[in-house]
Amino acid sequence: NAVDELARLARTDGLTQLNNHRTFQERIVQEVRRSERSQSPLTILMIDVDYFKTYNDTHGHPAGDKVLKTLAEIMMRSLRNTDVVARYGGEEFAIILVDTPLSFAAKVADKVRTAVRQEPFQGADTSQPGGRMTVSIGMAGWPIHGKTAQALVEAADKALYDAKRAGRDQVKMAGGTT
Ligand code: GH3
Ligand code: MG
Ligand code: MG
Repeated sequence: NAVDELARLARTDGLTQLNNHRTFQERIVQEVRRSERSQSPLTILMIDVDYFKTYNDTHGHPAGDKVLKTLAEIMMRSLRNTDVVARYGGEEFAIILVDTPLSFAAKVADKVRTAVRQEPFQGADTSQPGGRMTVSIGMAGWPIHGKTAQALVEAADKALYDAKRAGRDQVKMAGGTT
């Protein structure tokens, strides 16, 4: 009904149909609580598109929007139904991998990274350094990299920054390993 539809719209990012930033913030708090209760592992991934400004500047904002939609689809099909995918900000995505130890999460992160790199985005060959659209990914696991939702997000963000500094198109784990 209309009330449910309004509630859904309030939780959803209009462009990609992913969870929006606010929904992500709610879910990460819930999932950290759940992991505390069940003592089950939890990993988050922060994903940022590499050199996206270059793509927009070359092909225009609508073409950039289309890339963001396709990226959302790639992420959705790389994950399980229980995982939470969100558009965290402009060209930044966040994923909560529930019940997932870091060792397995690292494989998922690399699957996402590889799937993006293999997607033939229109015009990426002319605008993107290296000729491909790529993403950088930072990952952090509860509880070793952060005991609270906020600490986890900060740790994953820092790892994402490390992935950028190390040259982009790569996955970095919080704490300086991988
Ligand atoms: P880096 O590899 O360091 O992440 O480089 P970058 O160019 O991706 O980073 P920067 O932060 O300089 O640029 C992000 C760009 O993302 C700028 C902005 O135009 C674009 N962007 C953000 N949100 C949207 C959106 O909703 N649609 C489109 N088309 N572009 C967006
Ligand atoms: Mg960004
Ligand atoms: Mg970027």
